[in-house]
Amino acid sequence: MNTNESPFPPSNKAIEAASEAAKSLQLYSDPEAKKLTEKIAAMCGVAYENVLATNGSDEILNFAFMAFCDAEHPAVFPDITYGFYSVFAELNGVPYEKIPLKDDFSINVEDYIGINKTIFIANPNAPTGIALTLEEIERIVASNPENVVGIDEAYIDFGGESAVNLTKKYDNLLVTQTFSKSRSMAGARLGFGVACSSLISDLNLIKYSTNPYNVNAMTQAAGIGVLEDEEYTRNNCKTVAENREYTAEKLREMGFEMTKSLSNFIFAKHPELDGGVIYSSLREKGVLVRHFTSERISQYNRVTVGSREQMDAFLNAISEILEENK
Ligand code: PMP
Repeated sequence: MNTNESPFPPSNKAIEAASEAAKSLQLYSDPEAKKLTEKIAAMCGVAYENVLATNGSDEILNFAFMAFCDAEHPAVFPDITYGFYSVFAELNGVPYEKIPLKDDFSINVEDYIGINKTIFIANPNAPTGIALTLEEIERIVASNPENVVGIDEAYIDFGGESAVNLTKKYDNLLVTQTFSKSRSMAGARLGFGVACSSLISDLNLIKYSTNPYNVNAMTQAAGIGVLEDEEYTRNNCKTVAENREYTAEKLREMGFEMTKSLSNFIFAKHPELDGGVIYSSLREKGVLVRHFTSERISQYNRVTVGSREQMDAFLNAISEILEENK
């Protein structure tokens, strides 16, 4: 319960397609990932030239830091967000700035209006799970026309509103998504970006200069397979959202405080029990969650939402810990 993976296996269609593709592994994968890209474009309601498939969404995020940030276009993102943004900035020698979240861990939209910097926002944010509305995203994108705004939608399928459609209206918007969470394919490494064709061309330049065969043949096939099984994905997301609300309610009854998560994780703290103590006590009981040591969030733990059985095991462990620490 510490890396926000899906508790469900991949779709059978993904497994069968990947097994079939394995028979031809002597050949390089299609560098354009043509069939997969067509499928993603159809799912998103955009054209082929508006999509780039990558080796996880981490790859397209890294490409975006390479392509769209430099000394004149420094990167900005919230102080509490996906940890890889600062890693990508540092790796690529890009200056960056962290904008503090409000005390309730929400994003202050005004902080991002007309700032003329390259903005990265995870929506919903991680590890808080809090989402911006589409209107708020549009205000940010519209007010920074000379800069790229990257909206990282790794967790969008669990409740938020996707900004994919806004890429048709704004040529400075890049939306990234992943097959790792809602589509149960974290180990396959598949992500993608949606943007106007010139941003996608820029990102393709980097791809072809670093790793033309970035999405392997089995993963391309599995990606096509899972996209032919959208009902499976939808049902799994619905179950995760239900299990999230069920777990949040039980935690609230035990005195926990939580952010309003629209993702596949819960971000919770207890007013009387130290976050680090909760983390290590859970670990001793065989339940691994994510604890962050940075000061603002050191009292919190991030718990991936799994199956009902997993959540009950987690809740039992938590109630034992509260009892032991009375
Ligand atoms: N963005 C966010 C906010 C994430 O939490 C993650 C995964 N932990 C990613 C992007 C990258 O996911 P992947 O490379 O598996 O697509």
